[in-house]
Order: sequence, then C-alpha cells, then structure tokens
Amino acid sequence: MNDCIFCKIIVGDIPSNILYQDELLVAFPDLNPTAKMHILVVPKNHQANVSILAAENPKTLQRLVSVSQNLANQFANGDYRLIFNTGSTVGQSVFHVHAHVVGGETLPE
Ligand code: 5GP
Ligand code: ZN
Repeated sequence: MNDCIFCKIIVGDIPSNILYQDELLVAFPDLNPTAKMHILVVPKNHQANVSILAAENPKTLQRLVSVSQNLANQFANGDYRLIFNTGSTVGQSVFHVHAHVVGGETLPE
C-alpha cells in the first residue's frame, strides 16, 4: 500500500522505535500517547481493520493478543486496555489494522 503510514514504518521508510517484531507483527510507541504506556501493535500484512484480520488471518490476531500481554508485562504491571478503532466515525484514522495497547497508569472507565 503506497500511501499507508504503517506500511512505511514496517519497511523502515518512516523511522520509529521498534519495541518488538516477529514474522507477523511489529510494535512501536504511539506518536501521541494517551497514557504512560501507549503502544501500537501492527500486523505486517496490510489489512484495513480487525474484522478483516479476524476473518482472514485469525492466527495473527491471536498472536497480537499474546504480544500485547507480553508488552504490558514489560512496560507496565501486566494490565492493559486493547483498543481497535474500526471505522472513521469512532476514530480510526489509519486504515491499516492496529491495536492500541494502553496502560501504565490507572485509566478512567
Ligand atoms: P487510530 O486513530 O487509527 O485508531 O490510531 C492511529 C494512531 O496512530 C494514532 O493514535 C496516532 O497517534 C498514531 N500515529 C499516526 N501516525 C504515526 C506515526 O507516524 N508514528 C507513530 N508512532 N504513530 C503514529
Ligand atoms: Zn498498510
């Protein structure tokens, strides 16, 4: 996807602080964190949202959840909020599926 900011981060065209990667996923800090821990976990394969990922690559989604837990263990106390904004009206701005792993402090409900 030529125009996708996360595809550019994945191939290294846009620099970011890669916290974790494997053959399926990369993780890096959100540019505009909303909490002390705010990490994006991003499948390397470009798909628009988590529903498509779940239908087409369920193993990647399963891996994403376990990687999120590991990141929360490493960068927080093991607690985390996992957010997939899906659709522009609820705040999705990058249409390459990504999980926000948020925590590191007490979050409002
Ligand atoms: P969305 O709003 O689509 O759920 O989340 C997109 C997230 O990507 C936002 O929280 C935004 O701060 C983050 N973001 C956008 N561009 C960049 C970038 O170039 N680098 C990083 N690290 N995060 C980005
Ligand atoms: Zn992409």
